[in-house]
Amino acid sequence: MILPKTNRLTPEQLAEVTQIVGDFGCRIQPIVGAVRTIYAIVGDERDDLMITRLEGLNFVERIDKIQSPFKLMDKRSDLASHRIHLGGMTLGDELLIIAGQCTIDPKNPTLLYETAAAVKEAGAHVLRGGVWKPRTNPYAFQGDAKSLDILMEAHRRTGLPVDAEVMDEQQLKLALDAGVHMLQVGARNALNYSLLRAIGRAVAERETVVLLKRGLHMGPLNEFLSAAEYIASFGNPNILLCPRGTSPTLDGYRNHPDESITPLLKEKTWAPVVVDPSHSVGRASYVPACALAAVAYGADGLCIEAHVKPSAGIGDDPKQALTPEVLAETISQTRQLWTLRRPGKVEALA
Ligand code: PEP
Ligand code: MN
Repeated sequence: MILPKTNRLTPEQLAEVTQIVGDFGCRIQPIVGAVRTIYAIVGDERDDLMITRLEGLNFVERIDKIQSPFKLMDKRSDLASHRIHLGGMTLGDELLIIAGQCTIDPKNPTLLYETAAAVKEAGAHVLRGGVWKPRTNPYAFQGDAKSLDILMEAHRRTGLPVDAEVMDEQQLKLALDAGVHMLQVGARNALNYSLLRAIGRAVAERETVVLLKRGLHMGPLNEFLSAAEYIASFGNPNILLCPRGTSPTLDGYRNHPDESITPLLKEKTWAPVVVDPSHSVGRASYVPACALAAVAYGADGLCIEAHVKPSAGIGDDPKQALTPEVLAETISQTRQLWTLRRPGKVEALA
């Protein structure tokens, strides 16, 4: 990572560093911050001669040589001061709440409009709504592109930014063209490197936020962070890490709840952790406790399935979705807990 003496390199300076790193098989990825632009060296930056040549440039303040497979996502990275803004809030200043339906019913848009109004009223910052769905059963409802219009209409009605999962490049393009604010990478695609790369490339020049779910069978945390690095390496570090339970399941729960990895992630990365309690436990009655546990572990946000009338929902909603009343109570309780243990407060005591 190259940190220039000025707020950004001139085109000539950029051309010079690009030439130097190019000689060693690397490329430069500018990462534009509010004040200063830093320049990630993408590739194997361990060559001492390359570093020496860069350090010799009089417009370079220093070269950050983090030896990490996820050097941008690493807590020691210069991106550690990066702040993500979304839905009128800033991650780290308050608890982020993403809420809404698992799956939008294209035959019944009113349900999403009512859900959108209800989650806004309950205090959510972002509306989620599944347009295309990754279904284990190939004969189950797979989602419908028509739902994208419904989601954007819900955005227009409420002003809430919207989150939808994309599973391939075609969906990615449709979602971005429609103006979706948050792209969700689902648990099944968390290790789909070509999709991660395509998303990274597509959001590079945008403010779009990416919610990266933890893979169903993901093991070491480095695997999760490296997946995030694939996206960040194209220049947009607006990435939220989303533990959502893993397999094998804990008997009685849908998955094995993994909100407890939050402090472990926070030791390695600056990226906000937004836990999804809904897919973790898989039953509406267990979701509030799991949400509270996530915040107790230090989560920066929650992604919760909610529906104005869960029994009328499709996808996971009849089982998992919270009613607006339970959602409002869960938001209120988790906010109180978040205030008690503001990020870093408990750790500072330990
Ligand atoms: C979802 O959010 O509805 C979903 C399918 O999530 P996951 O990828 O975590 O299973
Ligand atoms: Mn779901």
